[in-house]
Amino acid sequence: MAAGYHSVDLSRFALRPGEGRRLDLEVDPGQLDLAGQRYSVRGDTVDARLDLSRTAAGYAVRMRFVAHIDGPCMRCLAEADVPVEIDAREVDQPRTADEELISPYITDDELELARWAHDALALALPIQLLCRPDCKGLCPVCGASLNDLDPAEHRHEAEPDPRWAKLRELKLDQ
Ligand SMILES: [Zn+2]
Ligand SMILES: [Zn+2]
Repeated sequence: MAAGYHSVDLSRFALRPGEGRRLDLEVDPGQLDLAGQRYSVRGDTVDARLDLSRTAAGYAVRMRFVAHIDGPCMRCLAEADVPVEIDAREVDQPRTADEELISPYITDDELELARWAHDALALALPIQLLCRPDCKGLCPVCGASLNDLDPAEHRHEAEPDPRWAKLRELKLDQ
């Protein structure tokens, strides 16, 4: 079992409508899949701040944390460390007809913290995880990382591609 809180029983704070509680909890958001790659959160858990308030008909919860996503850079495969800031809110008013006011993460006073943190992170991830915003990627010829090289110095002898020669022959035949 991973460290960190998985869920929180909201009823144990015995809050009355209008009352609130601030909690600082360690949460394990699990692994994230992005473009076929697996990414994890540095340290495996995040320090989340929860602001919980009891409303007349249910709960309102705000969750904030910063996660550092570790994994391969999508351009150069070097280890990337991308900070992602989360500020998410959920409202749960179980006895309402309005679907917007029913949280998928709160059921019978039980807040599924880890799942919420995971989904919030998945939504907030950038489309591309890069080691740095201007990552230059890999040399298409030799695979060396262009971040470590001076592009003016890094060249390959232009070798005639035998496929092109073949193509020229075909065209001549016609
Ligand atoms: Zn990179
Ligand atoms: Zn090269």
